[in-house]
Amino acid sequence: MKILLLGANGQVGWELRRSLAPLAEVVAPGRHDALTGDLADPPALAATVRLLRPDVIVNAAAYTAVDKAESEPGLARTINAEAPASLAAEAARLGILLVHYSTDYVFDGSGDRPWQEDDPTGPLNVYGHTKLAGENAIRESGCRHLLFRTSWVYASRGKNFAKTILKFAREREFLTVVDDQFGAPTGADLIADVTAQALRSALSSSALDGTYHLVADGTTTWHGYAEFLCAVARELGTELQASEIRPVPGSEFKTPAQRPGNSRLDHAKLQEKFGLILPDWKAGVERMLAEILAPSA
Ligand code: NDP
Repeated sequence: MKILLLGANGQVGWELRRSLAPLAEVVAPGRHDALTGDLADPPALAATVRLLRPDVIVNAAAYTAVDKAESEPGLARTINAEAPASLAAEAARLGILLVHYSTDYVFDGSGDRPWQEDDPTGPLNVYGHTKLAGENAIRESGCRHLLFRTSWVYASRGKNFAKTILKFAREREFLTVVDDQFGAPTGADLIADVTAQALRSALSSSALDGTYHLVADGTTTWHGYAEFLCAVARELGTELQASEIRPVPGSEFKTPAQRPGNSRLDHAKLQEKFGLILPDWKAGVERMLAEILAPSA
């Protein structure tokens, strides 16, 4: 079996290299390879699929710069919507199973109930609109697919909120962090492990195809997350300057892209269909901190 993995150097993609390796030969072309993995060039990407003829495509590549997308909507749309559409069209034609990732940002952030997979969408920003267009193209293509929406992704590798908070907490007396946006920090390692498990099941049952919410269990705010990060970092012996983390409403942080308040995703469907248990968000964050803050030997 052959898996075409796109975005293999991103947070999720890097973990997928590890988790998919026992399942199949994993081919991960770079953007500049002759057989390109460049999502900014959908026709060339389609040609790569035709030539490689994988059994499965796992697309972990995306335009993820949420604020920058507001001033680069064309490129964001090509990478997040047109490239997935192109992959889906080839997948439908060649009978390939497509695994793809999307985001809590497809929802409008209203209310406080965790979003279910078939709730109405209503993105607030360009990134969310382009990710939703990618989702819709995959569903409309008729290809076999597993589409996982996730949220607040972190990893020991790559840039993310957790690393930014630790950096600022080392350098500054106090931090201000948003306390009216709710969601679940989710580890790229968890996403990759669940993907491999789900893929193994889906390969023998097309009844499992569909859209799923793949997030860690529990809910916090960015402020609660920051407090937890700093508390665990201190327990692990890291010296931090910051003596206070001040809660502020999102309205006090002017960013080009508007963010949803309610990013809670209900993962009951994924747990039930695949017989998996998604652990509490704190467990994964503790592991990641132990890894990145371990004293070097
Ligand atoms: P990262 O930003 O860590 O990785 C994205 C990857 O896509 C990078 O390796 C990047 O390469 C690659 N990429 C960007 N443009 C292209 C291109 N034109 N051709 C090929 N590759 C490209 O993202 P994550 O791993 O965090 O995200 C994985 C998925 O999860 C995405 O679908 C994202 O939308 C979704 N998601 C992420 C969230 C988050 O908090 N990060 C939250 C919710 C959903 P390079 O590094 O070279 O630019």
